[in-house]
Amino acid sequence: EQVQVRELLADLVGRMKAKAERFGVTLVSRLNDVTIWADRESMVHILVNLLDNAIKYNLSGGYVYISNRIEVNKAVIEIEDTGIGIPEEFRTKIFEPFYTVNKDRSRESGGTGLGLALVKQLVEKHNGTIELISSETGSSFRLAFPLFHSQRNEEEHL
Ligand code: ATP
Ligand code: MG
Repeated sequence: EQVQVRELLADLVGRMKAKAERFGVTLVSRLNDVTIWADRESMVHILVNLLDNAIKYNLSGGYVYISNRIEVNKAVIEIEDTGIGIPEEFRTKIFEPFYTVNKDRSRESGGTGLGLALVKQLVEKHNGTIELISSETGSSFRLAFPLFHSQRNEEEHL
């Protein structure tokens, strides 16, 4: 089905607001009109997991920046946090099932470590890619999906 990424992100950011507030985290979005062809429920699953991580592995007073745009015929979605970051040696491992970096680092225990493994599977099922860019000042997950055909070859816009 056609999924309007702007509407979907706006809806999910609204739904995560209460949790963010509990963690003292502010959500900031910069959204653009982009359409992809995807299973809406899978997209919800992917984005909720990434938003959930960005909030719970953040610091009180921290931020999560949510943005989307068209980039070289791809629909790009970025979820960037100012949290605890992910050490270099774990950056490929976190996509493995049941992998958690260190329970003590999280302010919320009880995660199964299945989140990102499923996220990666669902992204790949949609012919998308997921990339992690992490530093000492936080983590950034970058998703790229094929555009819905009517938007292909459109001018790159911000
Ligand atoms: P679940 O998602 O099943 O509740 P989880 O959040 O612990 O459990 P994943 O979402 O798979 O598991 O993430 C794996 C591990 O990667 C986490 O335990 C955490 O250590 C690390 N991680 C994931 N996202 C972030 C992030 N945004 N910042 C810092 N660490 C992260
Ligand atoms: Mg998770």
